[in-house]
Amino acid sequence: MSFLSNATLAAPETYLGIYNELSKYNVHLNVFERLWASWYQYMQNDVLATGIMSFVMHEIVYFGRSIPWIIIDRIPYFNKYKIQNQKIPTAAEQWQCTKLVLLSHFTVELPQIWLFHPMAKYCGMDTGVPFPSWQTMAFHIAVFFVLEDAWHYWIHRAMHWGPLYRSVHKIHHQYSAPFGLAAEYASPIEVMVLGFGTAGVPIVWVLITGQLHVLTMYLWIVFRLFQAIDAHSGYEFPWSLHHFLPFWAGADHHDTHHERFIGNYASSFRWWDYVMDTESGPEAAKKRRERKLAKEGKKVE
Ligand SMILES: [Zn+2]
Ligand SMILES: [Zn+2]
Repeated sequence: MSFLSNATLAAPETYLGIYNELSKYNVHLNVFERLWASWYQYMQNDVLATGIMSFVMHEIVYFGRSIPWIIIDRIPYFNKYKIQNQKIPTAAEQWQCTKLVLLSHFTVELPQIWLFHPMAKYCGMDTGVPFPSWQTMAFHIAVFFVLEDAWHYWIHRAMHWGPLYRSVHKIHHQYSAPFGLAAEYASPIEVMVLGFGTAGVPIVWVLITGQLHVLTMYLWIVFRLFQAIDAHSGYEFPWSLHHFLPFWAGADHHDTHHERFIGNYASSFRWWDYVMDTESGPEAAKKRRERKLAKEGKKVE
């Protein structure tokens, strides 16, 4: 990509220098677009530019979002909002979890993130400026949320089948009372297979529609990371999102899955578990019992 004027004889070498130079000739671009274009210009290698940006972004968001939960765990005031309030994770548990998550980030996710740019380009993903409108980005992200949730529901449900559970999914269930950091605590196979819902769905989307900007992909991954970490936080607040959006899953939904090992398989929404009758927890069990009794009652008549 070249955004600098041909008239520039000596191209600036620092990132800031490139930014200033680029700003002179690209007044139509906003600050973020200029920062973005300068980064690619500065790197002179699109694969490295996307690779580094993706990996750093993933680490910053993952740990940046997990740290507030670690702090909340240490503040007694919040204990009343902890869903399984007897089970506050210890510092040793959290450290143990961090080590495995980091190992998996560097060994499993890093090579995949590196391959992402060539694959994205090959599939027709846009990496240039200007960015798409926010409406377009919001629409794409909403579609990915719905599709990822469906993928997650079925694959996660399959992973609870005996042989698959024992060989793959058991690691993720080590913590029956989850905490934010445990969101990606899982077997590498699980990270790849369930991760397809997050990384593969947008790729299939761009192959079919030919429309997707890599920035939309980044924003989607940031939202999805927030969703996954918050769902594992172990906290249910009066201001949690599912009180306002009844179909949003949240921690209330996924915590029960970890506690009971059965039901509530979806990631972001409640509709799949509702429709397929796999809702978990005492309330859902009671409803199921009542329905069964009503059926039997009818038979007796
Ligand atoms: Zn599970
Ligand atoms: Zn989980």
